[in-house]
Amino acid sequence: MTAAPVRAAGAVIVAAHGHVHRCPACGGALAGREEALACAGCGAAWPLEGGIARFASARSAGNGPPGFDASYFDLLARVEDEQFWFVGRRAVILDGLRRFVPDLSARPLYDVGCGPGGLLAYLAAHGVPIAGACDAHMEGLVLARRRLDVPLAHVDNDGPPPLARGQKMLGMFDVLEHIDDDEGTLRWAADVLEPGGIFVATVPARLIDDFDLVLAGQLVAVAATFALAAATTFTLGLRRYTSGSVWTRA
Ligand SMILES: [Zn+2]
Repeated sequence: MTAAPVRAAGAVIVAAHGHVHRCPACGGALAGREEALACAGCGAAWPLEGGIARFASARSAGNGPPGFDASYFDLLARVEDEQFWFVGRRAVILDGLRRFVPDLSARPLYDVGCGPGGLLAYLAAHGVPIAGACDAHMEGLVLARRRLDVPLAHVDNDGPPPLARGQKMLGMFDVLEHIDDDEGTLRWAADVLEPGGIFVATVPARLIDDFDLVLAGQLVAVAATFALAAATTFTLGLRRYTSGSVWTRA
């Protein structure tokens, strides 16, 4: 593994939280201080730990989504730069982004469920701007922090992350299948995206025919675009999708 050296979260990252995140309690704007993000609406203070915003409530702190083993992150961080599946997967995702997002360099990607951040670090190294990322596992975020100089957030897994509206591009890579209310999640994604914003997902495919790029097009009704869904079978998800089922869920 070729991890970047650990970097201290600077003032730039702290300030950038205010652009992508909102107060989980009231939706108010957040301003960065050294050790916390302060809400202008309700006055709540959300701790920053190494630049990672601790939005997750105490009841769910440390608990990840069902069907996912947190110890997997350590293994993932060690193999994802070399193992054929991840190397191929990230190349497919980058290719899909370049193919379907013509203004890619002007669309910072916010990744929901970033894990240890290997995919994002790869995309960033290949010119994809990264707006930020979140995960329900602090273990993954600590590993991601070593590779990414972007705002990271530790969030609850039983509701959508507290994102500011107007996001230009949202990614959920092998995440949707872990979420009980996947339809509600897609509606939330459409809501926080700017008009014409782009939603990118990889989901496990049900059919072998889907073991490639399975859909591309624009969802006019929700003002978002599905740019890519690639098949995966590696994760322990709750369900499988076909291109048609993802379409209808949106
Ligand atoms: Zn607030």
